[in-house]
Amino acid sequence: MTEVSKQRMLLATRNAHKTQEVREILGAGWEIEDLTAHPDRPEVEETGETFEENAKLKALAASAHYAGWVLADDSGLEVDALGGAPGVRSARFAGEEASMAANRALLREKLSKGQGSDWRGRFRCVLALARHGVVLRTFSGVVEGSIASLERGEGGFGYDALFVPEGSRRTFAEFAPAEKHACSHRGRALAALAAYLTAEEPAA
Ligand code: IMP
Repeated sequence: MTEVSKQRMLLATRNAHKTQEVREILGAGWEIEDLTAHPDRPEVEETGETFEENAKLKALAASAHYAGWVLADDSGLEVDALGGAPGVRSARFAGEEASMAANRALLREKLSKGQGSDWRGRFRCVLALARHGVVLRTFSGVVEGSIASLERGEGGFGYDALFVPEGSRRTFAEFAPAEKHACSHRGRALAALAAYLTAEEPAA
């Protein structure tokens, strides 16, 4: 059997949870570094109105300084009863520097003040793949579900303790990592990326 050398990729994020999930999902064939290895790079302002626009902004900014593959992930939670909020503002729902605990608390507060208890929503992830300063393609993944009234579970990150995927009674924070990746928005977007890269057989 021939030994396949690892491909390298820069993930345009400083969110350690995203990096961990991308490493787990793409597996051993990829060596993934993220922007924590490049503290000099300025934060990219997420001025887009869609996940796709923001993913492209982040991929392009990182690709300007990096010779190989660059991947950016823009993702978030859309809640129907809130007209799709927090959406692209998921990381800063309760303010620019807000903690995720504060973001989750604000989400629960807004939902409990609203009418009805049909708290349907979805996680959405858009990945932008860039190389040599050009965005080659985007890939998206969605997981439908509902918002729990109380936080449950210790795993995952972000809004996981409040998100119950369709077909389950548990929150994502109560899932094992591999179980989350098999149905998550990020897992689905990365599966599309992996299929594209396999079909293209890119040179490293
Ligand atoms: P951004 O893509 O950097 O704008 O931030 C996305 C935000 O959406 C994260 O900070 C989380 O709050 C939330 N988010 C994205 N993906 C997940 C997930 O898999 N689980 C829980 N929260 C997520």
